[in-house]
Amino acid sequence: MDELPYKTILCDVLIIGAGGAGCRAAIEASKHNLDVIMISKELVGKAHTAMAEGGYNVSLGNVDPEDDVDTHFKDTIVGGNYLNNQELVQILVENASERIFDLEEFGAVFDRTPEGKIAQRTFGKQSWRRTAYASDRTGSEIMVTLTEAIRKTSVRVFDEVFATRLVLNDGKISAVTAVDLKYGDYILFRPKAVVMATGGAGRIYKVTSNAQLDVGDGYGMAYEAGAELIDMEMIQFHPTGMCAPKSAVGRLVTEAVRGEGGILLNNKGERFMNKYYPAVMELAGRDQVARSIMTEVLEGRGSPNGGAYLSIAHIPHQIIEFRLESMIEQFEDAGVDIRNEPMEVSPTAHHFMGGIKIDTNAQSTIPGVFAAGECTGGVHGGNRLGGNALADTQVFGALSGENAAKYAKTNERPGVNRDEVQKEFAHLEAMLTRKEGISPSDARDELTTLMWEKVQIFRNEKDLAYAVKELRRIEKEVVPNIKVDVKEKRFNPGWHQAMEFEHMVKTARMVAEAALMRKGSRGAHYRVDADPNDKGYYNIIIRKGKDGEMELRKDDVVVTKVELP
Ligand SMILES: Cc1cc2nc3c(=O)[nH]c(=O)nc-3n(C[C@H](O)[C@H](O)[C@H](O)COP(=O)(O)OP(=O)(O)OC[C@H]3O[C@@H](n4cnc5c(N)ncnc54)[C@H](O)[C@@H]3O)c2cc1C
Repeated sequence: MDELPYKTILCDVLIIGAGGAGCRAAIEASKHNLDVIMISKELVGKAHTAMAEGGYNVSLGNVDPEDDVDTHFKDTIVGGNYLNNQELVQILVENASERIFDLEEFGAVFDRTPEGKIAQRTFGKQSWRRTAYASDRTGSEIMVTLTEAIRKTSVRVFDEVFATRLVLNDGKISAVTAVDLKYGDYILFRPKAVVMATGGAGRIYKVTSNAQLDVGDGYGMAYEAGAELIDMEMIQFHPTGMCAPKSAVGRLVTEAVRGEGGILLNNKGERFMNKYYPAVMELAGRDQVARSIMTEVLEGRGSPNGGAYLSIAHIPHQIIEFRLESMIEQFEDAGVDIRNEPMEVSPTAHHFMGGIKIDTNAQSTIPGVFAAGECTGGVHGGNRLGGNALADTQVFGALSGENAAKYAKTNERPGVNRDEVQKEFAHLEAMLTRKEGISPSDARDELTTLMWEKVQIFRNEKDLAYAVKELRRIEKEVVPNIKVDVKEKRFNPGWHQAMEFEHMVKTARMVAEAALMRKGSRGAHYRVDADPNDKGYYNIIIRKGKDGEMELRKDDVVVTKVELP
């Protein structure tokens, strides 16, 4: 085959992803007088972070003065079922306040207390009211603010550019291959340092609260390049997603609804959380509430669409209208007035606690590759507390940007293996030129259904082993045979889906393999056939071995302050 033409673009720091973490990394890196590029596969400003509703955790003590950094630390560890890397948690809780003040300085407006301080609300499993918010559109406020702040920097922004592979030289980052989705051109970025800020992968599940593009490209790229990933089995199923109408299935009903006093009822009108977690009721951990709802459904007390009722009819309309504005609109579209009628809700795949393993400089195990936000693992352990992810994007976004800049200043740009680059572009081209094969949307349906049915909230050995076997087959037989029907390279959604699909498969396989390895229940990973001898106080690390096979091992949890039980 003839060599495929591509454009080479040099820079110092390349940020892959323009959500909360990517934008914050770009702002920080740009302070170092470097050439910083931020790319995103969708239009900048549209990242999934904009969908975050409930808020940002920070122990300001504005509403409950008793709150402090140590309590935030402890709540995060207990919430994470003791699997969190405690060094990373310390960084999160210590820096969350400075980073929210940065946001205010950039122009973000959070709701206020009567005294004019940032208001804070209750979220699940928190000792005090800690979650700062802008009504129920906190992520949107943050994204609008960050994209505006980026405009005031020298950061070069490339939207609708899809990164496909990290290219290494002698174990260090040397280039990133990409496709310009608007024109169909191939691009080779030649940075000295990279920040991965590619978000999560809820879309590997059929029912999810995540944006369309959250398919796990970052996990797939990091894995292929040889980086270590941690605790990929830890998927948070948010207890309250919409379960009707069909077009809205999976869409999030923010935890703020329960934070503001929402109660869960079964089809008999019973407030069933009383039975499962009487001390905390609806504000039990997300995994606990999700399992409680599913138990009600499995035992025949579910709502017509396989969920439960979430009611706020007892709360004054004025409060609902002020604090849950977008929820009113979201349900109005479904013909439900939440001020007077209950919402029908059921669990939805929501958050990846696992991801790219980072150190306290936000560097992955590949020199020069940093990472921040939902694509990383270790901060949230076995279960993320609501509100901690937005804080994570800002704290680790800034840290990764700063350290990537420092790395770029002190390291030369390694040479790049052009054969490897050509091989990647030829691989992408083949998806378009292949005469026979499998359509990416059919392949995607098969994968997301498999994950939803076999690697879900209640897990068991038989289902997980089946999923692993199927995923290995899909990887071997389907991925190399993906064929896009429309051959056009510009704005070709089928081609985009095809590029995403191999990362989805890789991500799904990491989730299933780790879930199979973890025999006990811990955090969001719940085995109905749990081995009582497996207490689960370890992290599962995954990497691509030298022979190309997936390698898994168990590591000790990094403990600095709170002893494991
Ligand atoms: C509905 C919903 C509500 C939520 N509410 C809250 C909340 O109230 N509080 C809270 O703390 N957390 C919340 N979360 C979680 C939180 O929103 C996310 O964890 C966080 O926003 C992730 O930010 P991020 O910057 O890591 O990734 P994202 O915002 O997902 O951004 C990822 C970026 O990477 C880009 N990208 C991905 N792959 C590629 C590629 N191959 N090439 C180029 N670009 C790529 C995308 O285009 C995007 O720009 C919520 C989650 C959901 C689903």
